[in-house]
Amino acid sequence: MDSRQSNSPDVLDGVDPRQVVDAVERVMAIPSIGGTPAEITVQEFFAQAWTDDGFDVDTWPLDLPELTGRADFPGMEVDRSAGLGVLARIPGAGPGPATLLLGHTDVVPPGDLAAWHTDPFTPVVTDGRIIGRGTTDMKAGLVAAWFAARAVHTAGVALAGDIYLAAVSGEEDGGLGAYALLDRLAIRGIDIARCIIPEPTDLDIVPANGGALTFRLIVHGAATHASRRSEGVSAIEKFAVALAALTELEAVRNIDVDPLMQRWDIAYPLSIGTVQAGDWASTVPDLCVAEGRLGVALDETPEQARAALEHAVAALADTDPWLAEHPIEVQWWGGQFAPGRTDPTHPLVTSIAATHERVTGRAPAIYGGPYGSDLRLLVGAGIPTLQYGPGDSAVAHAPNEWVSIDDVLTCTRTIAGWLT
Ligand SMILES: [Zn+2]
Repeated sequence: MDSRQSNSPDVLDGVDPRQVVDAVERVMAIPSIGGTPAEITVQEFFAQAWTDDGFDVDTWPLDLPELTGRADFPGMEVDRSAGLGVLARIPGAGPGPATLLLGHTDVVPPGDLAAWHTDPFTPVVTDGRIIGRGTTDMKAGLVAAWFAARAVHTAGVALAGDIYLAAVSGEEDGGLGAYALLDRLAIRGIDIARCIIPEPTDLDIVPANGGALTFRLIVHGAATHASRRSEGVSAIEKFAVALAALTELEAVRNIDVDPLMQRWDIAYPLSIGTVQAGDWASTVPDLCVAEGRLGVALDETPEQARAALEHAVAALADTDPWLAEHPIEVQWWGGQFAPGRTDPTHPLVTSIAATHERVTGRAPAIYGGPYGSDLRLLVGAGIPTLQYGPGDSAVAHAPNEWVSIDDVLTCTRTIAGWLT
């Protein structure tokens, strides 16, 4: 694996499980929901902790009006008036390739509190698990990367190149933090050779992500009294027509998928997340607004995916006279995640796989994820990037989100071993 030696027991001795769990609990207790002030608080936590660890820490306020106004800005779905960038450096002994370990610190809202068995932001440790919002997605992963870097630093290993640790905000709603980080790296002339994002992969290796585009459909009807409904046009019923067409489009878009994505039942999902219509039970509704998410294939551009959806919606006019005269409007807003991939035979992928197998005795699976993430921004900037982290993405964004402590420690050990 590159020019590195095999992992040193001294380095792994520097990983104290109690400290790792304690750090996950402390970070998790900060309710850093996207768009809330706690998004800054958690960034400040990492800046302080990494300063305390003796790393060189760079922090900078994000210039939101400037960043969000750029043509290639990846999107933002929450109101946000401030952001803080945090980047730590652990100097290498030589000019070898620099490694970036990157994690997002924002989390999604807890959802229905009645579905939680615990308070979402009060960490609970039980049965080898840490439970709470943001544990698996992805505070535990970021803490694992931190403690791996810390163990290497503490052991005084002479690194071939620099290690950078980055905490970023705004991943869940578009990728503001990673976008701003790439800008900062360019300004400072920092050349990153490879990047690991410890998003939840169940300790498999994910070198590719499908993309995800947020859209809105505006469906018009004609309001009338429900008792005379045949004289009006229900926007809900017209939305149902569109939904059937989109379901068919999803099926067509998933007939022939990339080998990296074939493990998924639906590699590129098209899903409606919100529907709002009507304002009175006995009125035929004249407006239905639906929002959803369109998956983008690995070999497709966002423009091509948008065109496919727009075409399917426009084609409804061929068979529906009302929709021919009152076309459904399609808007693209919020997160616009392009797909991205690192070649699964790239040395970054094969060397992490080899280290994981040495630590666990099990070869990790290698496949693409069906979700968009910061990976595509890094890959888009020419940086080979993979995801490798503890936790199952199936429990991310769900009530009673949890992560296995053993998996957090395995991730820490693998990254530490790989760095040395
Ligand atoms: Zn995540």
